[in-house]
Amino acid sequence: MENWIKKQAALAPTRTAVTNGTTSLSFAQLAQTTDQLDRKLAALGALKEQRVALLTDNSLAGYLTAMALLNAGKTIVWLNRRLSAQELNYQLADSQVNVCLYEDQLDVNGLNCQTISLSQVKATPEQAFTACSDFNTTAAASIMYTSGTTGQPKGVVQTFGNHFSSATASALNLGVTPADEWLCTVPIFHISGFSIMMRGLIYGMTVRLTNRFDAEEIHQMLVNEPITMISVVPYMLKKLLAVKQAGQASYNQQFRGMLLGGGPIDQATLKQCQELNISVVQSYGMTETCSQIVALSFTDAPQHIGSSGKPLFLTQLRLAEDTNEIQIKTPALSPAYLGQPEKRAAKTTADGWFKTGDIGHFDADGFLYIHGRGDDMIISGGENIFPDEVEAAYAQCPFAADIAVIGVNDDQWEQKPVAFVIPNEQTLLARDLIDYGRERLAHYKVPKNFYLIDQFPRNASGKLQRFKLRQFLDEHRAKELE
Ligand code: ATP
Ligand code: MG
Repeated sequence: MENWIKKQAALAPTRTAVTNGTTSLSFAQLAQTTDQLDRKLAALGALKEQRVALLTDNSLAGYLTAMALLNAGKTIVWLNRRLSAQELNYQLADSQVNVCLYEDQLDVNGLNCQTISLSQVKATPEQAFTACSDFNTTAAASIMYTSGTTGQPKGVVQTFGNHFSSATASALNLGVTPADEWLCTVPIFHISGFSIMMRGLIYGMTVRLTNRFDAEEIHQMLVNEPITMISVVPYMLKKLLAVKQAGQASYNQQFRGMLLGGGPIDQATLKQCQELNISVVQSYGMTETCSQIVALSFTDAPQHIGSSGKPLFLTQLRLAEDTNEIQIKTPALSPAYLGQPEKRAAKTTADGWFKTGDIGHFDADGFLYIHGRGDDMIISGGENIFPDEVEAAYAQCPFAADIAVIGVNDDQWEQKPVAFVIPNEQTLLARDLIDYGRERLAHYKVPKNFYLIDQFPRNASGKLQRFKLRQFLDEHRAKELE
């Protein structure tokens, strides 16, 4: 495939490729700027190896550097700016990277590799360098670490072909209009953000970058600026909903909707969105599939609240007979985990399907519902309980600001659900929470014990790390609610 940056500069030279609200670049300018950055990176000796690490937030300089690496035919190793030096060093060693480019205000102390700031790159005189002419379908465009929700993050190799299939499948579902401008407030070092950049490049669409998620600010942007799409994870949706509920203005006329993904969401929140006329398209995917592989369409979304939709074009999805595990085949699927062929082999069935580890069911009309991760499932007295479902039942509970459920061993039931709560009231009793749960859930699903917690352990994507809650209990660090 012809270099996408050059191709788009030829197809849509004057269209805006990227903007941060202050500075905008057209696709022609993007092509010029990435060539220029490559000449500077070459002068710094940063393009000698195939893989180059990038530590950045959603800044324009970070976006341009990522594009420059693709333009040079290099593989971007995306680093998560919220990780510690120790965690980053694991990823740098794992991906065998020697050079890390970083956004100036981010901390690179203690990183075991050569570090070059983006302002240093900017200040360097240029040296001759020829951009890569082809984006080879099977070449690695990016290496991205999974969120580490279940343990050590895995380095996922994402090819140009994977990104192309993902972007095309999304376009076939959501459509592309010439007015499209996609707000990228999710981190570009995660697939939710990087996939917006790739869609921008493939569709010739404007990417609007924002560096931090402030619900009030994002709301104002959706009201006042010509943004048509935004990607959100559940906590962002809830915050935006709260701002809109507070009686604020409606979004701009061209706004098409929110692509929601990354984790479970409760039905009550989705219903409130519907009441407030916020168009939400739920989706399901993972780093390994370069973002969504299942999504609702705009037309189906209102009738199928709570579903993640149908497998998108080119994605085949089946449920394992015994466990209902979601298994897939799709051209968006990454070919490998970096240096860990055994992990990939363990996630592949004898007949070549990828085992996601997630559990779900289809309704009669072929819409998929996600129950949660198989590893989180609690089997109590022979019944299956998914923590996500229990947490969703408590989502509107007035006594608890937040709740998280895990399974623990139990003599009588084999396993039992227990919960960690951030209480809203000093005088909260376990009895109140049990009664609340029993009004909404089958009794066996209601947590048997409740433990107090100030803050949940979450990874950089805001996802709950249940294995850490289990450690609290094992180490007797949790205080039980009377
Ligand atoms: P790790 O693999 O390191 O433990 P992770 O699986 O959280 O981390 P990601 O690739 O960012 O890393 O997340 C993909 C996972 O997120 C899916 O496998 C699934 O468990 C969950 N997920 C994604 N979309 C949804 C959804 N709509 N509903 C429920 N869960 C979802
Ligand atoms: Mg995963």
